[in-house]
Amino acid sequence: MTIYADNAATTRVSEEVLNAMLPYFRENYGNPSSLHNIGQRAAEVLYNARKTVADCINAKPENITFTSGGSEADNQALISVARNLARKNKKHIISTKFEHHAILHTLKKLESEGFEVTLLDVHENGIVTPEQVRDAIREDTCLVTIMYANNEIGSIQPIKEIGAVCHEKGVIFHTDAVQAAGHLNIDVCDQNIDMLSMSAHKFHGPKGVGALYSKKGIILRNVIEGGAQERGKRAGTENIPGIVGMATALSNAVKDIDKNAAYVTALRDRLIDGLSKIPHCILNGDRYNRLPGNVNFCFEGIEGESLLLLLDAKGICASSGSACTSGSLDPSHVLLAIGRPHEIAHGSLRLSICEENTEEEIDYIIKETASVVEYLRNMSPVWKDLENGVTKHLI
Ligand SMILES: *Cc1c(COP(=O)(O)O)cnc(C)c1O
Repeated sequence: MTIYADNAATTRVSEEVLNAMLPYFRENYGNPSSLHNIGQRAAEVLYNARKTVADCINAKPENITFTSGGSEADNQALISVARNLARKNKKHIISTKFEHHAILHTLKKLESEGFEVTLLDVHENGIVTPEQVRDAIREDTCLVTIMYANNEIGSIQPIKEIGAVCHEKGVIFHTDAVQAAGHLNIDVCDQNIDMLSMSAHKFHGPKGVGALYSKKGIILRNVIEGGAQERGKRAGTENIPGIVGMATALSNAVKDIDKNAAYVTALRDRLIDGLSKIPHCILNGDRYNRLPGNVNFCFEGIEGESLLLLLDAKGICASSGSACTSGSLDPSHVLLAIGRPHEIAHGSLRLSICEENTEEEIDYIIKETASVVEYLRNMSPVWKDLENGVTKHLI
């Protein structure tokens, strides 16, 4: 038996999405820039996909740029606004300590080019408030970029309210909505969002394709130079099968969004309730204001990696921290940002579920996690010291 509970890392392409993509490899394989009929058929398909994606977030098709994924969309959003407003001497950017590395590393690069970056603290429940944003905005602030929902701990940010603060102060607001798109209702107009990144493989679409929404009037700068595709803002022959897959996956997700969210939330709550019974553990992220499919716990006296490997041996695919940091021994920057001490942050487990999971699977995960945690603790000298009162329990 294999139970896949790592949907925040990537999801399985649905059969419907795969079938929608297949004709664009061998039948309708045209390049949308070609003037002949095979090319023009591809151009029409590209337009329809753009319109579908736009409709899903209440945007206009001309404001959607297809990219190679969430990372590229994040890079392009930040670099565009920074380059545009540097001329006006607006060189201050506000973000948070728990963004994805696609944001944090791009901000580092901009810092080395003379931009000043303020990274807001995150409350223990994994939420940043509009007041924090208001207090941080300065005369020279050009951009606020805050993720819609965190990829590790699932906490959902007050996006509409943060956007309202930005607009009141005349600052552009970007959100990395890679974890939210297809899972939460998004309306860029109603929610005061100027720019938004998303990625198909996080909602049962293919890997290597994403999109950047940018409001009318924001000039995008190329991160990939070359031909004039995507209105000259993103060079390279369009990934038509991928783009069709993305549009199909997003419209399917949005069509069933409330039904899926209700079902997955019920599974999530069952999983949280079950794992909470394990002694000396703590839930990371807000109990209720979190993504339907996200569960994240720290277990005291445990190494996240050992826990993962033993769960894998029981057929459970999970994660400890984000996939990008596995392989490094540093604890997750997200868990440190919400104030977990190093020794606790090391013992984290993220289970990210979707509508393909079942109640039986959830019960199996609860049972096996409890037994693996107990097994690891029984072998651990660190745990013995905690139990004998040599060191103090932190949770
Ligand atoms: C996965 C993810 C990304 C990166 O998206 P890719 O398409 O894999 O480049 C960016 N931000 C968040 C929050 C993510 O979860």
